[in-house]
Amino acid sequence: MQFDRKHLWHPYTSMINPLPVYPVASAKGVRLKLEDGRVLIDGMSSWWATIHGYNHPILNQAAHKQMERMSHVMFGGITHQPAADLASLLIDLTPEPLEKVFLCDSGSVSVEAAIKMAVQFWHSRGNEKKCRLMTIRSGYHGDTFAAMAVCDPVNGMHSMFSSILPLHYFAEAPRCGFHEEWDDSYMAGFRDILRSNHEEIAAVILEPIVQGAGGMRFYSPEYLRRVRELCDEYDVLLIADEIATGFGRSGTLFACEHAGISPDIMCLGKALTGGYMTLAATLATPKVSDGISSGNPGLFMHGPTFMGNPLACAVASASIRLLLSGPWKRKIKEIERQLVRELSPCAESAGVADVRVLGAIGVVEMKQPVSMADIQKRFVEKGVWIRPFGKLVYIMPPYIIEPEDLTMLTSAILEVVASDKI
Ligand code: PMP
Repeated sequence: MQFDRKHLWHPYTSMINPLPVYPVASAKGVRLKLEDGRVLIDGMSSWWATIHGYNHPILNQAAHKQMERMSHVMFGGITHQPAADLASLLIDLTPEPLEKVFLCDSGSVSVEAAIKMAVQFWHSRGNEKKCRLMTIRSGYHGDTFAAMAVCDPVNGMHSMFSSILPLHYFAEAPRCGFHEEWDDSYMAGFRDILRSNHEEIAAVILEPIVQGAGGMRFYSPEYLRRVRELCDEYDVLLIADEIATGFGRSGTLFACEHAGISPDIMCLGKALTGGYMTLAATLATPKVSDGISSGNPGLFMHGPTFMGNPLACAVASASIRLLLSGPWKRKIKEIERQLVRELSPCAESAGVADVRVLGAIGVVEMKQPVSMADIQKRFVEKGVWIRPFGKLVYIMPPYIIEPEDLTMLTSAILEVVASDKI
């Protein structure tokens, strides 16, 4: 612990006054075992990723089998079965006509690749003016520079870099909640920005239906349908960042399915490998790939060292097959019902502003920001792993969670948000 405090930089932390960290010795199913012997039920799926729980025998076996063949080999000038298998699964599962797959290292990198694809597409068509992006407020797309530039400028955690980030167009965050009635006036602001600036806009990028780290908001499928229509009307590409929502989290395999739309470019990550290791994918339509490939230089200008890592690809294919072989849709519906039932009473607490649930995501929004370190300690004392941020206390457990374990998570939240110490 002393070494950690002195030398290890954790996400968004200070090296002078680091927040407490909890050493984990092992993990299995939905349980994290701390080094001091305490066991915590996981409400976070390690940031949306561990959908099948930890230490899953099928994923372990896929990793072992692949490791004995090769863990890694460069993807330049070489190909391999694990990459082809995974791409074929992704093409089958994602909405048509996404069928060109760029395998890369992490969610942020897949967003960088998506943005490059969009800009290169218009460049290849001789339309170099179309090099800006449009997005919606309360979004989050990653920590690298191009991704940061399309995160919410205020709560996207990156405002201090604003002076060196490219300027893009931001529409207000969708006002219509997932279950709320649609009104056409909700589209006016977005439409105006696109109408006035489409000649400069290469693509709209957004998180479909669920805005994650930028505010944990769920918006109307109608909004997404309108965005797709407007992108077509104004000749602008649509990038769907499904890094957090992909693989069932919101109740459909991909969140775009709620609106029945297909983007021109889609980013996947997080749960892609069932949370085993880092891997992401950027998928594009033939229109996008042909556009890029028939222009000048005719090559997509990206190629990270570890792209297409065979070990990660093999585990990703095993994870997707495991998901599809089980009743994931029913399971997520059951989690959703239980979250609604058990989190709704939180709304009666004076400090709570809103309670919302979609798929296997439960959110309690407080009126004031919470102290992450204090509240986390109290959750650990109650035997659960829940990591709030800002005003948000939220969970997105592994899909394999049993109802009794989910009740442990929801009752811990209920007790903590009801206490006057929050
Ligand atoms: N897009 C979305 C929607 C995300 O939630 C995240 C991560 N929270 C990212 C992109 C960035 O992914 P990564 O952390 O793997 O770079």
